[in-house]
Amino acid sequence: MDRRDFIRTTSAAATLTLAPDIINLSDGSSQDKKATTGDIPWYRRVTRWGQTNITEKDPANYDVDWWRKYWRSTALQGVIINAGGIVAYYPSNVPLHRQAQYLEGRDLFGDLCRAAHEEDLAVFARMDSNRAHEDFYKAHPDWFAIDGKGEPYKAGDLFITCINSPYYNEHIPAILTEIAKSYKPEGFTDNSWSGLSRDSICYCENCRKSFHNKTGFEIPLTVNWDDQAYREWIRWNYNRRLEIWDLNNKTTMKAGGPACIWSGMNSGSLIWQSESFRDYRELCQRAEIIMLDSQARSDTGGFQQNADTGKLIHGVLGWDKLVPESMAMYQAGRPTFRLASKPVPEARMWMIEGIAGGIQPWWHFVGASHEDRRIYHTPGPLFLWHKANEEFLINRKPVATVGVVWSQLNLDFYGRDQAEQMVELPWRGITQALVRARIPYIPVHADHIDSEAANLSLLILPNLGAMTDNQIAGVRKFVKNGGSLIATGESSLYNEWGDRRPDYGLSDLYGAHAIDQADANSDNSLRKRVPDTYHTYLRLVPDLGKNADGPSGMTEPDATGVRHSVFKGFDETDIISFGGILEPVKTDDGTDVLMTFIPQFPIYPPETAWMREPKTNIPGLILNRITAGGNIAFMPADIDRQFGRYNLPDHGKLLANLIRWAAKDKIPLAVECSGLIDCNIYRKNEFLILHLVNLTSAGTWRQPVDEYIPVGPVKVRVMLPEGVNARTLRLLVSEQKILFNSTNGWVEFVINSIIDHEVIVVS
Ligand SMILES: [Zn+2]
Repeated sequence: MDRRDFIRTTSAAATLTLAPDIINLSDGSSQDKKATTGDIPWYRRVTRWGQTNITEKDPANYDVDWWRKYWRSTALQGVIINAGGIVAYYPSNVPLHRQAQYLEGRDLFGDLCRAAHEEDLAVFARMDSNRAHEDFYKAHPDWFAIDGKGEPYKAGDLFITCINSPYYNEHIPAILTEIAKSYKPEGFTDNSWSGLSRDSICYCENCRKSFHNKTGFEIPLTVNWDDQAYREWIRWNYNRRLEIWDLNNKTTMKAGGPACIWSGMNSGSLIWQSESFRDYRELCQRAEIIMLDSQARSDTGGFQQNADTGKLIHGVLGWDKLVPESMAMYQAGRPTFRLASKPVPEARMWMIEGIAGGIQPWWHFVGASHEDRRIYHTPGPLFLWHKANEEFLINRKPVATVGVVWSQLNLDFYGRDQAEQMVELPWRGITQALVRARIPYIPVHADHIDSEAANLSLLILPNLGAMTDNQIAGVRKFVKNGGSLIATGESSLYNEWGDRRPDYGLSDLYGAHAIDQADANSDNSLRKRVPDTYHTYLRLVPDLGKNADGPSGMTEPDATGVRHSVFKGFDETDIISFGGILEPVKTDDGTDVLMTFIPQFPIYPPETAWMREPKTNIPGLILNRITAGGNIAFMPADIDRQFGRYNLPDHGKLLANLIRWAAKDKIPLAVECSGLIDCNIYRKNEFLILHLVNLTSAGTWRQPVDEYIPVGPVKVRVMLPEGVNARTLRLLVSEQKILFNSTNGWVEFVINSIIDHEVIVVS
């Protein structure tokens, strides 16, 4: 950028009442000008997005020229612009489509859309279509959702529209058509397209009729997962969201041409997707692009949650499609301040972990002018790095030998109203253990085991309670073909409705059988008891107490003194803390029980803290020796849930040992250094791409991070996929030249230091 540009930029900014900022904007001369042309459709090419979420106060002061320069300076290829829905940011002729307050006749959407097109940027017209003002409600009360008492559902002063009403069948399509024809945006997205969530049942006439016609049931009066009417209501709701998705796409393509797609925003939280009736797998089979609204990390999930989400979505969407993600540059999460800048490392690490999982960056501001001007400096450096290196960041395939299995059906019908306890925590425990052990993995949808299996040596079922017969058959086939399996908790014990089976669907593989036929809803059931923490332990078998040098409470007369490799590093203990509970199972011949349960005993007062029942035969971990080929482990003890919840290193180490044993050490990567590093490997043509993200910081488990803590030296050994040769090695972040060795299909090298991340490309 030259001096003249800088002056032009700064003088434009200085004329604002609330000057967005005086910052160093680059000239954009090398910007990709092909966003709206070419053979590949725009939604496969546009990889950097920006969104200035317009507030109703913005129209008076929105400085389009300033933002054009900002788009260039961040190397954008597309923008998301507020268009219509609850309020319109353009002069609309659709009845009851109300103008945004303070718009005063300005065609702000039009101004921005034209400016973006002049900059060769793609435009996603952003809708927000789930509620309306009182005048609308009074004109069409039958278009709005009502509760069991006949009262309208409201959010603040606004009335919530019903997903089964003409609001979605006629009103929104009329707006989409008007915008598509008038402004020709490349496509449409919607902030809040899926109507009421699961916690609110609508009893309007439209819903009653549709539900009865399609299912024969009346709308359920209460939440009861054991009631078939409620279950059908869940499915019916999911199907309606798919209809909306299809209708909106049909509408925008008819009005704007075949590339004018509609892609409503989706969440990074599977629990929220479930509660919003948005089936990720079904939507991904329809979608050309997923607009991911997942702006910041949670303390419990960490930054690595973003890579996990990216891999999970690509697993059902395909790796050749794109998943841009709205990334908050303001202080989002815990707590939220819409107008204050988020610490740069916090914003940047979330973006980096997204990129590591195949997500494309999309900066997000709320409001078009900011007094905290630091916010404008946050995205630029990473966006420019992304532009320089994007050939290695998209359209690639993950390289991993471990697959962790998920399904939304399991969240709904097994997780029910306790999805965090029943489903999310076990998932988090397994995936965090994998990240800590630096073992690359991919999420695998339970219906996609066949298509993913070829490259995997191990499948993990993290308390995948509800499984269909087909999914069970898929796992069985995987094992029959030599694959290994780890299943935890109640995996395969329930059918697709969440009804308990007489025995685990995979009991033959586990070599273990359920013996307790207790009602799944009784107070004594696991479901009722998992939210609590118990003073329980697990005993490692064999007990080595007799060989210990010091005092030992227990001795094991027949102990051989040799333990299984899953207990590597646990030589000096015969017990580990547990904290959970488990269901007793009976085991088949040919199985080894490696851990047994020690029931709860008092913590207080300390004098009472001694084991009442130090030894039981209740299995906590079972290895099945009778299967040929793969290694099989069934772990009734919910160590995965406990690790997801409490982060105790023993639990993480044990899970990692178990995974290494089950994978028969077929893990294509070894990384040696201190710290927490998320490791993801990809393959693209003749390139191997290794993305190492340094998660080590003072804020690793408590946001925000405001300082990077470098790690290194980092010793790396990575296996070369067939067809990849190690002739050159590039570091895309530090751009250092380093030496490497390549022998026997592996390449080895040492990186001196990683500040936030490094991408290694071998070819
Ligand atoms: Zn309704």
